[in-house]
Amino acid sequence: SQIALEELPGVGPATAEKLKEAGFNTIEAVAVASPSELATTAEIGESTAAKIINAARQAADIGGFETGDIVLERRKMVGKLTTGCTEFDEMMGGGIETQAITELYGEFGSGKTQLAHQLAVNVQMDREHGGLNGSVIIIDTENTFRPERVAQMVKGLSEKYGMELDPEEFLQNIHVARAYNSNHQILLVESATDLANELRDMGKPVRLLIVDSLMAHFRAEYVGRGTLADRQQKLNKHMHGLLRFGDLFNACVVVTNQVMAKPDAFFGDPTRPVGGHVVGHTATFRLYLRKSKGDKRIIRLVDSPNLPEGEAVIAVTTAGLTD
Ligand code: ADP
Ligand code: MG
Repeated sequence: SQIALEELPGVGPATAEKLKEAGFNTIEAVAVASPSELATTAEIGESTAAKIINAARQAADIGGFETGDIVLERRKMVGKLTTGCTEFDEMMGGGIETQAITELYGEFGSGKTQLAHQLAVNVQMDREHGGLNGSVIIIDTENTFRPERVAQMVKGLSEKYGMELDPEEFLQNIHVARAYNSNHQILLVESATDLANELRDMGKPVRLLIVDSLMAHFRAEYVGRGTLADRQQKLNKHMHGLLRFGDLFNACVVVTNQVMAKPDAFFGDPTRPVGGHVVGHTATFRLYLRKSKGDKRIIRLVDSPNLPEGEAVIAVTTAGLTD
């Protein structure tokens, strides 16, 4: 945003400083905060906080209504990124959508990181080959990004399409940052926004933002019941930051998520994604990845605003993800 925090009515230099320290660096971040959250971090009264939030919402021009035709105009821009697997693409109505968060959840080794790598390659292809001519930003929280794996997948695509693709070029369009804790992870979405603005000006628009994994730091840092509300509030802010990125740059946002055992499950699958309703409600598409025989993986579309539930089988091979 072009407007400084200090320009908001009720925000003096001292308050602005406290807000920034707490991670509210922009008008947008303040606009989506809750009054109690802001009141606590900035040491101001709740009614003052509510006034500041309202002013920020007006300044950031969010939270307003828009007419259906405007929404339709934006929807027309939605791009679909191929997964490289026919069944999987069909289940997704053509591919992974831009302007949406797609959550990949599943056990360790189920293929979440593999799929993330494959999408980081595919998105760079032209539209004829299911890509979006885009570059990629990856927020890596578990140190599992592997350039060697990207190179293998580029080689796989070269063979699939009979084209000469240069792995080096693909790697140059993938921007990776390690996130060292949950605060850093949230801040990296802001840095990603700055970087994406630069890349857009350079004619290399970011069409894919990956967070792998979304919850690892949050789970490690917020242990015990008393901290859950704090965690969820921060997570909510993070998820909305991601959604905004997707809208702003017409990009796919893909997050990976861990699972935990559901203690009360007598029937069906006893696992569920972590992150509670905050992640559940903000993720537009939820995909459940499961190991099957050998290199096969089963992908289940669990939640979608406009597609039926379904399953697709894929294979994780050295050349990448295939049918
Ligand atoms: P997670 O869901 O934990 O992120 P991964 O995406 O890291 O899981 O999946 C790891 C699995 O992917 C490995 O167990 C292996 O089966 C497969 N895999 C990883 N690298 C390769 C490769 N180069 N060739 C074939 N399969 C691979
Ligand atoms: Mg992984």
